[in-house]
Amino acid sequence: MATNKRNGALFDTHTHINAEQFDEDREAVIERAREAGVEEMVVVGFDRGTIERALEIVDRHDGIYAAVGWHPVDAVDMTEEDLRWIEEVAGHPKVVALGEMGLDYHWDKSPADVQKDVFRRQIDLAKRLGLPIIIHNREATEDILRILEEERASEVGGIMHCFSADWEAAERCLAMNFYISIGGPVTFKNAPLPKEVAKKVPLDKLLIETDCPYLSPHPFRGKRNEPARVKLVAEQIAELRGMTFEELAEATTQNARRLFGIRS
Ligand SMILES: [Zn+2]
Ligand SMILES: [Zn+2]
Repeated sequence: MATNKRNGALFDTHTHINAEQFDEDREAVIERAREAGVEEMVVVGFDRGTIERALEIVDRHDGIYAAVGWHPVDAVDMTEEDLRWIEEVAGHPKVVALGEMGLDYHWDKSPADVQKDVFRRQIDLAKRLGLPIIIHNREATEDILRILEEERASEVGGIMHCFSADWEAAERCLAMNFYISIGGPVTFKNAPLPKEVAKKVPLDKLLIETDCPYLSPHPFRGKRNEPARVKLVAEQIAELRGMTFEELAEATTQNARRLFGIRS
């Protein structure tokens, strides 16, 4: 494992290189990430299949860690057995967070009350295990903030992944011990909110991510995303904040390592 990080080493805090979109060329994608300076990343699992594949990947690669959880879109599918299994695999030495979890009101596969129950139970599990949580929010900001407050999620903290809400919501998350992770949309022309948030978040609470294969940054919008492109996110945020790329890279990498408890 790399102990001396290269200048400008990046940490992509949210990838799905476990997704089937990478089945044909996963190793090449990881190689391209390394070449772009992305020395570390988290692979996020969100159901049985993607968690199993995430653990296979982290077992074979230094600098790649896993997060395990159940996605709100599929909340209706989660069984008691699944939750017990997540608790079990969370004991893997390279699992650094629980998630992604949260609420997604864009798709109507899982009713809101089922999503909320599955979300609350995963927060409870994270508190028992002492792991930070990764939050997925789509069109559900108010309910997510209320549940995080009610469940005292500040005890474990975590990440608001691919943050797309306004600055006022960001402040409430920061007050609850959460980091704000910015993804590809910050590079889009018509994205004033991510740009404003990326500028204002305290430097020690800022993270970067791709959420690949989704949300490719400009000029690759609409194409399959991959971890190497987190560099474009970092460049855009550095420019918005008037910092050098190296300063931004170092701060966000340190933040990720601190949050995930990576000391090696
Ligand atoms: Zn998500
Ligand atoms: Zn995701």
